[in-house]
Amino acid sequence: MIVHLHAPMAGWALDLAQVPDPVFAERMMGEGFAIDPLEGVIRAPCDATVIAVAPTRHSVTLKLANGAELLIHVGLETVALAGDGFTARVRDGETVTLGQVLLEVDLDPVAARARSLITPITVTSEGFAVTLHGLDARVKAGDPLADIAPLATADVAADLGEDTARCTIRVPLPSGIHARPAARIVTALKPFTAEVTLSAHGKTANARSIVALLSAGIRHDDEIEIAGRGPDARAAIAALATLIEKGMSEEAHQPVAPVAAPAPDGLIHGVRAAPGLAIGPVFQFRPTDVAVPEQGNGAPAESGALAAARTQLQAAGNGHGPGADIAAAHRALIDDPELLAAAQRLIAQGKSAAFAWRGAIRGHAEAIRATGDRLLIERIADLKDIERQIVALLVGADTAMPIPPRGAILITDELLPSHFAALTDAGVAGICTAYGGPTAHAAILAASAGIPMLVATGTAVLELEEGNEVLLDADRATLDPAPQPAARDAAAAQLRRQRDRATAETAAAQDECVMADGTRIEIFANLAASADAAPAVALGAEGCGLLRTEFLFHDRSSAPDEEEQRAAYAAVAAGLAGRPLIVRTLDIGGDKPVAYLPFPHEENPALGARGIRFSLANPGLLAIQFRAILRGVPAGQCRIMLPMVVDAGELAAARAILNRVRADLGIDIPIPLGVMVETPAAALLADSLARDADFLSIGSNDLTQYALAADRGNPAVAAMVDALHPAVLHLIARAAEGAKAHGRWLGVCGGIASDLAAAPILIGLGVTELSATPATIPGLKAAVRALDMPTCRALAAKALSMSTAAGVRKLLEGTG
Ligand code: PEP
Ligand code: MG
Repeated sequence: MIVHLHAPMAGWALDLAQVPDPVFAERMMGEGFAIDPLEGVIRAPCDATVIAVAPTRHSVTLKLANGAELLIHVGLETVALAGDGFTARVRDGETVTLGQVLLEVDLDPVAARARSLITPITVTSEGFAVTLHGLDARVKAGDPLADIAPLATADVAADLGEDTARCTIRVPLPSGIHARPAARIVTALKPFTAEVTLSAHGKTANARSIVALLSAGIRHDDEIEIAGRGPDARAAIAALATLIEKGMSEEAHQPVAPVAAPAPDGLIHGVRAAPGLAIGPVFQFRPTDVAVPEQGNGAPAESGALAAARTQLQAAGNGHGPGADIAAAHRALIDDPELLAAAQRLIAQGKSAAFAWRGAIRGHAEAIRATGDRLLIERIADLKDIERQIVALLVGADTAMPIPPRGAILITDELLPSHFAALTDAGVAGICTAYGGPTAHAAILAASAGIPMLVATGTAVLELEEGNEVLLDADRATLDPAPQPAARDAAAAQLRRQRDRATAETAAAQDECVMADGTRIEIFANLAASADAAPAVALGAEGCGLLRTEFLFHDRSSAPDEEEQRAAYAAVAAGLAGRPLIVRTLDIGGDKPVAYLPFPHEENPALGARGIRFSLANPGLLAIQFRAILRGVPAGQCRIMLPMVVDAGELAAARAILNRVRADLGIDIPIPLGVMVETPAAALLADSLARDADFLSIGSNDLTQYALAADRGNPAVAAMVDALHPAVLHLIARAAEGAKAHGRWLGVCGGIASDLAAAPILIGLGVTELSATPATIPGLKAAVRALDMPTCRALAAKALSMSTAAGVRKLLEGTG
């Protein structure tokens, strides 16, 4: 079916090539035309359905009767006007007829503030031929300008009689489908061959393309349709639906930090992205674009150069921690099929690889910006980052990156994750950005590097004089551009105290942890990557109290074999240099799905076949893991721990498999086998479990969610999931009694072990080992050394008599 398009307003009709923006001029947003408007009333160019009016009302997308999607983008860079001067006359989902008013634009004020009023009108969906007529002429609203016809292949693709499948789900992810979930979706589909799409708000996105997924603007609680076509469509869709429905362990984005007290005039306000305080000279960070040649040396050479640069970046180190997660998301973006197709189109037009890559990225960034979604827009920095990295590889080193002096407060418009390593090496004291948001990847890196960071301050910070001393108080979300001596001295004194304390704690971190009354408490580290072990020891870890072996099983298409597992466990053991290593057997299922393992669909996976249940249902996999552990970790160092145990029957079944493996390997020395206490059942039956287990360790994250019936991954109940709730403390007390009755030790390896305030209660209840995140170890050791047992016992008894978590927290603050 051919749809005829008419001019949506009076003006000059132009070829897209005349639009002063490469995104449109290079047709990255599709084929079409543009109008330089002479009036501010924008009308429907044909009968259609409104897919979306941008929240900033500067653009409208329409679905035409033949399925094509049409974008009317009023002016250039008008998104920045945040809706000023634009009035929407239609709503999403409304049916409109040719000539009906869609938007009204106050032309004069908009013209004064926008880059241009030229309005591109483009067909954004693939599979349509656009025939243009009557361009380069003055038109009035309603004049015919283009015909849009589906390409024959699109019709054929409608039904090939292949295996098709579809399902509809709601998106539980608190920040919708942003870069990290999109990357995981693309990875999860790798084992399948089916074509898979996600549809929401009338938009359909290729589920193998991160940029397409981002451009779809899928948000929390949206209903989406997943559709697949191909021999394994059903399996692919089931895997994807499960992955998304389980929430991908996404946390709610950090709340914007409230300003603790009204700040006096003269302060610049922003949003806290990473906590802390810093004083230092302003360093205006203005990396400039590396110049790239527009014309290439022929398509084959340029395609080859782009492929080589992508391969080089893909091969760059894997690492661990948040930086590695972000790098993994970037690696997936580099392979994005839509991004590559856009770049290849430009290369085919004779452009250089660097020019094409930059153009492709910027086109997609604009499409994301057009969604108007704040959280998605924060992800544009990731696109810019892979633009920068690939362009640097193609045209030579990125010499444009200025390096700040040590101790400076870095000020910039927006920070890219790949700038980070150089900045932390340079020792910046604080970071402040005019744009960006608290969930941007640079913010996550700043928080993990301990660099205070303020974002979204507005452009006033970009005017600050280079070298002037400023005071950044990220906790109060302010920047003082000219601190008074009193404020400056107070901040300097506070920084000195923090630094002295950290220095003292680090100096004592290698000493054993002994309480003031002589009680020995072991402080271990939780680990989730081989490379984390040695750094944890450097921070004072006396061993590993929980090795989350899931790290070996995620983000891949098949399970690691025995040898790969053995090598990984051996590497952790070596990193610990003989210190005890507690390897937890695979804990997948629940909130930790793995697409390639045989999980049936579960209505309520948190109560389903996860942890030890999965392992006992797949004894072959468990035996391989036991063999890999016993072969990789020296016997004297090795301990094994089972997750999600509810009773001694599971422990006995697992021990039988372990004993068989030991016999096969000829290992006579008994290997301590412990259980995690992370179900209320295990806590209540601790006496019976401790009879057969060599040790118990509290998994407070799960114990809390199951005791309080509050999903640990659901932001709506996040505030409830507090392991210091008296109900959870009673379960821990019960576990401690059980352990003591049989002379077993009791540890804690859930998140509460890293909460310094909780240590006296846990110790008072009978815990003798705390396994914490490595970074907290020096402070935790210092806090525990200051405690004595009689005080801890009294505090624990008092906490057990409280009726709410808030009551316990108040007690700890000394106000209860
Ligand atoms: C826990 O549940 O507290 C725990 C340590 O295990 P995980 O967080 O890996 O489920
Ligand atoms: Mg757990």
